[in-house]
Amino acid sequence: MLGLMQDWPLLVHKIIDHAATYHGTREVVTRSVEGPIVRSNYAQIARRSRKVASALEGLGIALGDRVATMAWNTQRHIETWYGITGIGAVYHTLNPRLFPDQIVYIANHAEDRVLFFDITFAKLVEELAPRLKTVKHYICLTDAANLPKANIPGLVAYEDFIADGDESFAWKEFDEHTACGLCYTSGTTGNPKGVLYSHRSNVLHAFVAAQADAMGLRAVDSVMPIVPMFHANAWALAFSAPMVGCKLVLPGPKLDGDSVCEMLTNEGVTMTAAVPTVWLALLQYLEKTGKTLPKMSRVIIGGSAAPRSMIEAFEKQYGITVIHAWGMTEMSPLGTLGTMKPNNIDLPYEQQLDYKCRQGHPPFGVEMKIVGDDDREQPRDGHAFGRLKVRGPAVAKAYFRGEGAGSFDEDGWFDTGDVATLDPDGYMTITDRAKDVIKSGGEWISTIEIENIAVGHPSVAEAAVIGVAHPKWDERPLLIIVLKAGKSATREELLTYLTGKIAKWWMPDDVVFVDEIPHTATGKIQKTALRERFGKYRLPTAAA
Ligand code: ADP
Repeated sequence: MLGLMQDWPLLVHKIIDHAATYHGTREVVTRSVEGPIVRSNYAQIARRSRKVASALEGLGIALGDRVATMAWNTQRHIETWYGITGIGAVYHTLNPRLFPDQIVYIANHAEDRVLFFDITFAKLVEELAPRLKTVKHYICLTDAANLPKANIPGLVAYEDFIADGDESFAWKEFDEHTACGLCYTSGTTGNPKGVLYSHRSNVLHAFVAAQADAMGLRAVDSVMPIVPMFHANAWALAFSAPMVGCKLVLPGPKLDGDSVCEMLTNEGVTMTAAVPTVWLALLQYLEKTGKTLPKMSRVIIGGSAAPRSMIEAFEKQYGITVIHAWGMTEMSPLGTLGTMKPNNIDLPYEQQLDYKCRQGHPPFGVEMKIVGDDDREQPRDGHAFGRLKVRGPAVAKAYFRGEGAGSFDEDGWFDTGDVATLDPDGYMTITDRAKDVIKSGGEWISTIEIENIAVGHPSVAEAAVIGVAHPKWDERPLLIIVLKAGKSATREELLTYLTGKIAKWWMPDDVVFVDEIPHTATGKIQKTALRERFGKYRLPTAAA
C-alpha cells in the first residue's frame, strides 16, 4: 500500500522561492568584486534568478546542459545557481585555483556550454578560451561600466545579459533526481573526477546541514560562508541559509584576516565556515590588533583537521564555539560534525576538547563503517583503524562518465580514501588519508595527529609530516615546519615539545624548516609535493 501524501519534488529553486516569500526582506550582503559593499535581499535575488533562467533559455540552454561558473561567493553567483537549476540545467563550479590545464580538462570533460566568471578571472579566461571546446557564451559577472577589456569571444556583461530577462519566468518542472550541480574533486592522483549532485540530494543535504546538531541555522542568524561556492557547494550554505531565512553575508574575493574581520563585525555575523588556513590568518589578525568578535557564536572548521590550539583559541580567547566538521566533495560535502553530546557536554573543558578535536558524529543520512585490508568491518572501539566507507542519499554513487568506479562497491558503499577510527559514542576521528599514512615497522603512524600537536607550539605557523624511506623501519616520520614571522625554534625544542604528547615510536626522526608549505586548490597541505621534495631526504637515524 502506498502512502497518500503529495508528490512534491525536492527541487533546489523551491528554496529561493520559499526565502523570497517568507523571508523576502532578509538581507544578502556582498563585498562585490568591484569593491563596494552591495545590499540585496531574497526577494530581489529570486526575481533576478528568474531573469538568469529566462536569459539562459534564450541562449538555447535546456535540461541537462552544463553551465560553468568561476566566481567568488557573491550575490550574482548565487543568482546564477538558482537561475541555472530553475531550467533543469546543471551549475558546474570551476575552481580558479587549479592549474589552467586542469581547468581546461574539467570544462571540456563536462562539456560546459556557458561560462559565468568574475572580473578577477578575465585574464585567465582569455588565456583558456581558445582551448574550451564547448563553451559558446562568456558572461562576466559585472555591469557594462566594469566589463574588462579582454579578448574573449562574444563577451557580455551579466547585467546586460539579464536586463531583458523575465523576472516572472516560470521555473521548469522535472523529476527531483535530475542533475543539478557538478563539482570536480581536486584529483591529487589522476585526473579530476566529477561529482554530479541531484536536486534531491542537494535539498536533503541542505536540511541535514541546517539541523541544530549540524550547523544549527536559524532565521535570526547572520551567516557568512567563507568556504567558496566552488569548493563542494560552500558546504550547503547557498541552499541551507535561504531555506531557513538567515541573513547571508558573502565575502567576495577578499579572504585575508583584515577583510574577513571587517565583514564579520560590520554585518553582525553569528556563524561562519571555512578551512583552517583562513582561520589561521584571522586568529593572527585578531592577536595582532587586539580585536574581538562579540556577536559571533560559532565557527565551522573543516576541509582539513582543526588543530587543538585553533579550537582552544576560538573558544577560550574569543568565546566562539567551534564545530569541527569533516566531509568531501563526494558527500555534498558534510559527513560528520563535532557538536557535543550528553556524555561529554558536562566534562571538564580539557576533556571536551578531546572530543572537539575528533571530526564529529554523522547526522541522519550518513552511514559509516571502517574496514581493514580484507574489507572486513573493524570494531567501533575508538582504537581500531580502517578505511572509512560511507553511504547515504547525498553521497555519490558514481563519478561523472563512470570514472573511478573502483571507489564504489556493490553494496553501495563509497570508499572515502580516509583512514579513521569510530568510537562507541559515534565520533569519527580521521587519522590520515590512506595515501599519506606512514607505515613504520608494519604499524600506522597518524601524520595528522603529529601535525596538530606541532602547530600548538607557540613558534609554529604550520606543520606537515611525511614518511621518508628508512632501511630498518621502511618509513619514518619527517616533521616539516614553517615558523611564525619573527619567531624561532630549534629541532630539539620541537621534539621536546612533542615528547609525552605522542607515542614514543611516533616521534619524528628529524625536523626541517621551510619558508612555505605548498597547498592544494582546496587549501590542503600538498603532501605529494612535499614527498617529491623530501623523497630522498636522508634521516639521521637511517644508518642505524
Ligand atoms: P579535494 O578535492 O581536495 O579532495 P575535498 O574537500 O573533497 O577536496 O576533500 C575531502 C578530504 O579532505 C577528505 O577526504 C579528508 O581527507 C579531508 N578532510 C576534510 N575535512 C577534514 C577534517 N575535518 N579533518 C581531516 N581531514 C579532513
